[in-house]
Amino acid sequence: MPIRLHNSLTHKLEELRPIVPGKVTMYNCGPTVYSSPHIGNFRSFLFADVLRRFLEDQGLAVTQVMNITDVGHLTLDDVEGGEDKMEAASRKTGRTAWEIAAHYIGEFEECQEKLHVREPHHMPRATDFIPQMGAIIGDLLEKGIAYEVNGNVYYEIDKFPEYGKLSGKVLDELEEGARVAVNDEKKNARDFALWKVDDQHQMQWDAPFPGGRRGFPGWHIECSAMSMHYLGEQIDIHTGGEDNVFPHHECEIAQSEAHTGSRYVNLWMHARHLLVDNTKMSKSLGNFYTVGDILERGYSGLELRFALVRVQYRQTLNFTLDGLVEARRAIERVREARARLVRVRDGVEPAGADDLAAATEAAQDGFTAALAEDLNVSEALAAVFVFVNACNKASPSVAAATAALQAYERFEDVLGCFGPEPVADAASAAPAELLELLEQRNAARVAKNWGAADELRDRITAAGWKIVDTPSGARLEPN
Ligand SMILES: [Zn+2]
Repeated sequence: MPIRLHNSLTHKLEELRPIVPGKVTMYNCGPTVYSSPHIGNFRSFLFADVLRRFLEDQGLAVTQVMNITDVGHLTLDDVEGGEDKMEAASRKTGRTAWEIAAHYIGEFEECQEKLHVREPHHMPRATDFIPQMGAIIGDLLEKGIAYEVNGNVYYEIDKFPEYGKLSGKVLDELEEGARVAVNDEKKNARDFALWKVDDQHQMQWDAPFPGGRRGFPGWHIECSAMSMHYLGEQIDIHTGGEDNVFPHHECEIAQSEAHTGSRYVNLWMHARHLLVDNTKMSKSLGNFYTVGDILERGYSGLELRFALVRVQYRQTLNFTLDGLVEARRAIERVREARARLVRVRDGVEPAGADDLAAATEAAQDGFTAALAEDLNVSEALAAVFVFVNACNKASPSVAAATAALQAYERFEDVLGCFGPEPVADAASAAPAELLELLEQRNAARVAKNWGAADELRDRITAAGWKIVDTPSGARLEPN
């Protein structure tokens, strides 16, 4: 099935046509490790995770790179102002920028694990890629696209006429913003830094390009360098949050395309911000949640994951604590349906004659079609829950239960929200003769032969088992 994804560059749905057929290269802008990751960051990371899982489900070999920004990201990045976020955190806490990076990288990786994120193939740290950044900066200087003033190196926007093609930011808007940060060194207020000279900066290096002075890199050059290092000069998909569009990704395009002379990214994909209680998440409003905050409230990683992926990535997601309660119920419904199918498959509960074939096929097809159309998780989940209802109403045969479980296995493989298949405890498996009695009792009840039904129940009880009647049928449990 063709996969169509929304390209932020063209504002259109485009069919994914990998550069190398059968393989997909994907770069995700990762965290800046100066504080605990919040749920808004993770909406974007989980979107990338589900995208990768779906592409793999469709038989594509994905190479996924997610970087870690541990230097150079400024507090006022849209106007190139403020200080390095790592240095600001250091000043506030008294720990070194290196200690802060190590601490929050650990915290980030822990969150990835708790939210069941499939580990990216590479998670490079910007501070390990100074030479690669230097190679690009040196080339841009040589080409006359970058210039140096007092050791600082800037990218000259006027040398790249396509600047603005991703964000659609027009000249006036940019100058408006740039006026805030007056910097007489730049030829144009919109030029952005590739290298900054600063002998006070804790993270500093000898210039990795000829003739430069000691300093640290700008944020944008990091992603160009790490992406090209692992994935080559041109990649299939680059993702980020919508706040990355400008200036970060706009600048990445300018640097990379001026450096290589060819297209940098085929598909740009951006996850929308989430709202919390219908407003933008902010510390001052008291609706700011880190991943840790939610887990401390007693919700599981699966529940938080479900709440963050359940809405298609380009739609507004309004996160609420009630939404987590709904997530818990939704996961429970899937788990219960799966658990019953496992009992039927494993002979713990009597099998019926329903084949569930049409429902299973419709669920599989609906799930695939929804995700192939711009990763519509909301619709994919709708297909899953229609299937849950169909399973609960049916009295499946062993073969039908087995096929249905394979479908759930796939839904879990792609969405990662429901957890592994429940295990039918061998100790709780009722002997075949008792299952036979249970079936006779069911038949007696259908025939309204209550006396016989009661007698059969008593024989089951005498054998140490009890009948549990559920909306989806009766099953046996040890008494
Ligand atoms: Zn980036």
